[in-house]
Amino acid sequence: MTKRVYLFGAGSADGNSGMKELLGGKGANLAEMANLGLPVPAGFTITTEVCLEYLKVGGFPDGLREEVGKAMVWVEKTMGRKFGAAADPLLLSCRSGARASMPGMMDTVLNIGLNDTTLEGLIKASRDERFALDCYRRLIEMYGDVVMKVKRELYHHALEAAKKSAGVSEDRHLPPAALREVVAAYKNITRQHAGRPFPEDPLEQIWGAIAAVFSSWNIPRAVEYRRIHSLPDDWGTAVNVQSMVFGNLGEDCGTGVAFTRSPATGQKGIYGEFLPNAQGEDVVAGIRTPQPIRKSAEAGLPSLEETMPAIFTELCAIAERLEKHFREMQDIEFTIMKGVLYTLQTRRGARTGQAAVRIAVEMVADGLIAENEALLRVDAERLTDLLAPAFDPAARERATREGRLLARGLNAGPGAACGRVALTAEKAFAMARAEGKTRQRVILVRAETSPEDIKGMAASEGILTARGGMTSHAAVVARGMGKPCIVGCGAISIAPDGKSFSVGERVVKEGDFISIDGTTGEVLIGELPTTSSEIVRVLVDRTLKPDAAPAYKYFASLMTWADAVRRMRVRTNADTPADAHVARELGAQGIGLCRTEHMFFGEDRIVAVREMILADDEAGRRRALQEILPMQRADFTGIFEAMHGLPVTIRLLDPPLHEFLPHEKAQIEGVAKAMGIGPDHVRRRVEALAEANPMLGHRGCRLGLTYPEIYEVQVQAIFEAAVEVASKGIEVKPEVMIPLVGTVEELRRLRDMTVAVADRVLGAAGHKVEYLVGTMIEVPRACLVAAEIAGAAQFFSFGTNDLTQMTFGFSRDDTRNFLPFYVAERVLPGDPFQSMDAAGVGRLVEMAVKEGRGASKGLKIGICGEHGGDPASINFFHLAGLDYVSCSPYRVPIARLAAAQASLKEKRP
Ligand code: ADP
Ligand code: MG
Ligand code: MG
Repeated sequence: MTKRVYLFGAGSADGNSGMKELLGGKGANLAEMANLGLPVPAGFTITTEVCLEYLKVGGFPDGLREEVGKAMVWVEKTMGRKFGAAADPLLLSCRSGARASMPGMMDTVLNIGLNDTTLEGLIKASRDERFALDCYRRLIEMYGDVVMKVKRELYHHALEAAKKSAGVSEDRHLPPAALREVVAAYKNITRQHAGRPFPEDPLEQIWGAIAAVFSSWNIPRAVEYRRIHSLPDDWGTAVNVQSMVFGNLGEDCGTGVAFTRSPATGQKGIYGEFLPNAQGEDVVAGIRTPQPIRKSAEAGLPSLEETMPAIFTELCAIAERLEKHFREMQDIEFTIMKGVLYTLQTRRGARTGQAAVRIAVEMVADGLIAENEALLRVDAERLTDLLAPAFDPAARERATREGRLLARGLNAGPGAACGRVALTAEKAFAMARAEGKTRQRVILVRAETSPEDIKGMAASEGILTARGGMTSHAAVVARGMGKPCIVGCGAISIAPDGKSFSVGERVVKEGDFISIDGTTGEVLIGELPTTSSEIVRVLVDRTLKPDAAPAYKYFASLMTWADAVRRMRVRTNADTPADAHVARELGAQGIGLCRTEHMFFGEDRIVAVREMILADDEAGRRRALQEILPMQRADFTGIFEAMHGLPVTIRLLDPPLHEFLPHEKAQIEGVAKAMGIGPDHVRRRVEALAEANPMLGHRGCRLGLTYPEIYEVQVQAIFEAAVEVASKGIEVKPEVMIPLVGTVEELRRLRDMTVAVADRVLGAAGHKVEYLVGTMIEVPRACLVAAEIAGAAQFFSFGTNDLTQMTFGFSRDDTRNFLPFYVAERVLPGDPFQSMDAAGVGRLVEMAVKEGRGASKGLKIGICGEHGGDPASINFFHLAGLDYVSCSPYRVPIARLAAAQASLKEKRP
């Protein structure tokens, strides 16, 4: 027979911390603490398997009642009290506990076993009527809510009313007579709203609570939590039934939460809060301001250290012991009853990115863990916390208190920014430049953004959009620029006249100040002070000395260890010398993707670009291109200089030409006037270039083959820049990349053109520069014929954005009406533009790697799509055998760590 019930307490347990699948995290660690001899009130855990059975058949399995009955007898013997007894009754809690911690998502009931009879027994035994009544009213409230589905507020209203009429502000000050009335009122509320009375039978209470905890696995907020955190639905929750200990037995009692290190900064030493004369969730529920555990200068309230020094010392010793035992920062729940300390829960403590890095590095110094273990402990994604500028926490709290929190959206680009609202990209650019005046800080607020908005986006401090997801244009570009960004902020509606936006009744006008926190997704009214991250100040701005930057030192240690174990190299996607510089300081080993289209949008050259597109013949196009040539050359020179000695992959022009032309009537007329040509001519050209599906249209190498002069001039600019830089004694390693290749013939022709132009320029200058010509692999056909293509390419670089679009057959820009649904309803496990679809797109990648290398041994292969900065995808690319990943500058450290983790995980048995 399978064992369904596991005992814990009194210095031993049936289970241990290795049994989280069966006992849940809480139950497994309660058992572990009991085994360690820590003060854990006795109890038992009913397994997750029973939960799954219960949910399947809608009832308790045979034999469970007998097993629970036996366990109950053991608990009663251990505690020296009887459940349901009229004199000195044993009370129990019934607690949920899944494999992974789901804080506050499922339900707990305390003080089970109280009724009108046992109440009097508890009063006598405790000689404290107020306490016993307080327990009773808490039981009715929790039981009513969790088991009988009565709205919690109804009880709260009754309690508030009682406090008011008794003239007290805190529930612990309610006199017994008033509490008796509260209990009576609670019972009435229960009967009225549940249609049946609160059960007096202790056994009915405990079984009702067990059933409700099992069922709470499927309550909507628990389901939603699992969806957000990608946890499976088929784990189930265990139930922990445990003897009560009371923190509400007077002022020498209390309950609290302690961390073994600070979860915000990682600083060593106990950290946390407690409330005297309180029970259960009172600390987190915010009913009163909790008091600090440790004495501190700024805290107004007395600490545990000062008020109960002996308990404080004991708690510190337990915290230290648990941390050593688990070799991990712990989050501990405790209760103090009449000067005796009890531990009720311990688990791995959640933490910020800053804290995660510091704790990992300091634990290595403490000899608790090895370097490789430290690398695996830090969630690579959370390194964004360390790199992003942040709002001053006190100022933010004040703003929230003042009601300045306006709305919430998706936290697409981490960091904090504030500035004046601009509602168009042009306006943002103009406001940021504000000639004659001092530069203004701007937040660009749009329904969504498009490629023409780049300039305005670059000029803004941050970007806020009403529509779009985590991979929308705004999100991708903002992350690339390292700018704070919130997308999909549905509460925002932009006024039809485009002069303001509103959230409900509140109107924000263009020019007003707002603050956006891209780490949390919060939009606030007004200006909040920010600070640039320590790491950026040390490495990029160079305004801070490493010695004065402790957070930087922890980060640097971790990065050094990561670089030593990772196999893949990390490059960056950068289009400007400034981006290249940032990425290099953050550890990039080259540029994996330099997009040239952004250079075409520059304000000094868009006119020439348009002239080129509007020209009637090749001669006209070449004339216009001659104007662009020196500007492109200057762009490349800057980038080569910034990346001296490191490889730079430059992709030739990719987007269709109509993206550079205006589409609206007024804009067409403006352009025509500026260029001194008829608006009809412009309109005809716009119409001629129009495409039904630009994503699959006249772009990439198709453009290069039909308008060879464009690519020729780009290649000329690249190599003239290379010569210029090389002649200054700076090493250059250009790599020319042909986009959107689907057949070897496309590549062969464009490679021949590239080599011809490059050798002509280099030959004329009499310079020797090593260079490569390769291709993006982003059309599914290219993966299928990778062996052939490898014959004409010196490198492959997967363009996983396009490859994903074309493999799925949906364009990334047109997914907003179904992809969120697909993800929510689990038609797809996640957004394939965010994390690599290993089963489909990944198969193509693996095939292309295998066939490409089969045909050309040692072929260099990288990836330059958005996935290059996603830890899960990076793991995939490592296993697929890629040589490098390339990601946006501020994600370089994340990719370095993720690549190291991939190497370590592969080696683990
Ligand atoms: P959660 O998983 O949401 O943290 P818990 O099961 O840990 O829920 O319980 C909620 C609160 O009740 C916690 O503060 C816990 O410490 C307290 N609690 C649970 N069981 C007992 C008990 N037997 N005696 C005293 N307090 C308890
Ligand atoms: Mg808990
Ligand atoms: Mg592409």
